[in-house]
Amino acid sequence: MTMSFQIDHDLHTHTYLSSCSRDPEQTPRRLLDHARENGYTVQCVTDHLWDNLVPGASKWYAPQDVEHVKKNLPLPTDDQVRMVFGCETEFIGGKQLGLHPSHYDDFDFIVIPPNHFHMIGFVRPASYDTEEKIADLFVERLEEIAALDLPWEKVGIAHPNCGLIFREGDVSKVFRLVDEKRYRAVMHSFAEKGAGIELNVGCFPPEDTGHLEDHLRLFRMAKEEGCKFYLASDAHHPKELDAVPAMAPDIVKKLGLTGEDQYHIPQ
Ligand SMILES: [Zn+2]
Ligand SMILES: [Zn+2]
Repeated sequence: MTMSFQIDHDLHTHTYLSSCSRDPEQTPRRLLDHARENGYTVQCVTDHLWDNLVPGASKWYAPQDVEHVKKNLPLPTDDQVRMVFGCETEFIGGKQLGLHPSHYDDFDFIVIPPNHFHMIGFVRPASYDTEEKIADLFVERLEEIAALDLPWEKVGIAHPNCGLIFREGDVSKVFRLVDEKRYRAVMHSFAEKGAGIELNVGCFPPEDTGHLEDHLRLFRMAKEEGCKFYLASDAHHPKELDAVPAMAPDIVKKLGLTGEDQYHIPQ
């Protein structure tokens, strides 16, 4: 009998330490309480991070360095839920990752977003201004990330289908324009390296929009290339934590995921 994909984890969440949260209620303790109530076995904390050992932080990222996100340590412990200290760093092209190799060991999970393209002039050059160019940049960033020397088994590729990829344009069209051959090749390499691919549940549009299939397709291709997946709420406030139990079962079912397809952070 095949084990089913477990709705028992949330591997990408922010706390009050992230500048886009600053919610005093959003603490590791609150994340743990929610995880316990929902029968999770793993809850990961991934605040935004730009390491001060890496030059070139944007004004927004500069205060969010390693020392800053470590204010959450030690994480509360629990006999049911494994609390994992991670981060959501940044990738701006070339070899420019916002986390310095000397700090890889400080985190048990490293989430890398390939598409924070709302940060124009930092993550996305302003000249990338059409669906075609955005789709090309997205695949190129995935390829560049795949070429990095990383502790791959504890790396997550954040929200491939995030709407921030082109806020002023047609996101579904961007996904339809993704070069299938290159996308499959890079997903195949993530699968071989042992990275996890994120199912950021809030990124999926409702079925009645007619756009859901364009999002699911990205994950179907990744699955066919052997990728493993994890669930994420990307919550910045306590009420957003419920997105995983509310939305994940339907997404997991639509993608036909089983326990074999589930990514696990190394022990
Ligand atoms: Zn993100
Ligand atoms: Zn996030």
